[in-house]
Amino acid sequence: MNKGVEVARGKTKVLYASPDRVDACVVVSQDNITAGDGAKRNTIGGKGRLAALTTARVFRLLNACGVPSHYLSGGEDEDGNEMLVRRCSMIPIEVVVRGIAAGSYVKRNPGVKAGTVIAPHLVEYFFKDDANHDPQYTAERIIDEGIASPAELAQMTEVAGLVFNILAHAWKQQDVLLVDLKVEFGRTIEADGEGSPAGEILLADVIDNDSWRIWPAGDQAKMLDKQVYRNIAVPSEADLSAVKDKYEEVAERVGRFMRPTGGFVGIIMGSASDASHAERIAKALSALGLPSRRHVASAHKTPLYTLQKVSQIDAVLGRVVYITIAGRSNALSAFVDAASANPVIACPPPGSNFAGMDVLSSLSLPSGIASVVVLEPENAALAAAKMLAVDDTVLYGRVLVLQHRNRATVVEADERLNQQAAAPPPTNGKAASN
Ligand code: 5GP
Repeated sequence: MNKGVEVARGKTKVLYASPDRVDACVVVSQDNITAGDGAKRNTIGGKGRLAALTTARVFRLLNACGVPSHYLSGGEDEDGNEMLVRRCSMIPIEVVVRGIAAGSYVKRNPGVKAGTVIAPHLVEYFFKDDANHDPQYTAERIIDEGIASPAELAQMTEVAGLVFNILAHAWKQQDVLLVDLKVEFGRTIEADGEGSPAGEILLADVIDNDSWRIWPAGDQAKMLDKQVYRNIAVPSEADLSAVKDKYEEVAERVGRFMRPTGGFVGIIMGSASDASHAERIAKALSALGLPSRRHVASAHKTPLYTLQKVSQIDAVLGRVVYITIAGRSNALSAFVDAASANPVIACPPPGSNFAGMDVLSSLSLPSGIASVVVLEPENAALAAAKMLAVDDTVLYGRVLVLQHRNRATVVEADERLNQQAAAPPPTNGKAASN
């Protein structure tokens, strides 16, 4: 990659300005490995390439899920140990998320055994200051010292939790337990010309095998991460080579995070008059990146044709969930469910006849029929996504991001309401003149 002047230098990487984009810089991962805030330091040939490869693969997954990050390109294949990222001014806080007690947490809490599950996960903040061994900071101190605003810190905390949950899911697919994770954030220095303003908080830095603890089969003795290096007081060449083997294994395993699993939703509506309901479902699926196909087939009027459609959809490559739309007497959902081993979500359109009692035809089912009912079209799409996300980390991450946005919408509404309540009353309105 083209590199301009050196912008910054850390223990394991060097940053250069990008001569091609003012809003970007080039991160070059080095072959250094350090522990004890730089007190122990070694070189492992090829570690920089493995760090960049791991980071690029992690960030590509996070970008695909919709997590706002600095990663643009590189780190894989011909780019070796170089990545192009959005240029940020870094916030000097390490945000650590813990799902399992280990490391400094166990030292600070001697009553807690290593390996204890921490649920819900815990977020801690450490001020980046090697000379003082990265002291732990409270949220209040970060805000009081002007390191981040309350809104920025809330966003960093939420996104760190999201990243942890996405990566925990990815590792779980390989029977590996994500124990804890360190991430960092930056503020963009320049607008990107595509609508993202300067000052935006992005997940930044690297996320590589130095950033987490990972225990295959939940067994600490099988750890694959940098802790292996930390545990050796004076590493020999053979030790360093064994550490490199772990980093190679991790880079290769992270390459499997985005394995496409090919989820697909078959939407069957009983009548063309259900098209607008189906349209809302397809739109919500598409926002999650899930392909769908719509068919009109009636269990009452065209039973054989409906069975034919089900067998065609069942034969699609990849995994299938059905969403069935039928008003009045909904035979369709149970009919499709009996004909297929794939999940069926009944999403009947609202009906006002008979005081809305049509819905009971979706609820009271014969034995051996398992179609579930979700009434709102967008919720039915979400239910299908959750089913298909069980072994698809990109989809799982998109669901997590959607839930994160939903939470943010509620909190923002509350803030707006309270800002209005705190605002002085108008001086030219009725309230002021009374
Ligand atoms: P602990 O506080 O238990 O030492 O570390 C918690 C988590 O943050 C672990 O996953 C650890 O690898 C990571 N971590 C802590 N400090 C650093 C650091 O300076 N650099 C990197 N890359 N990761 C760190």
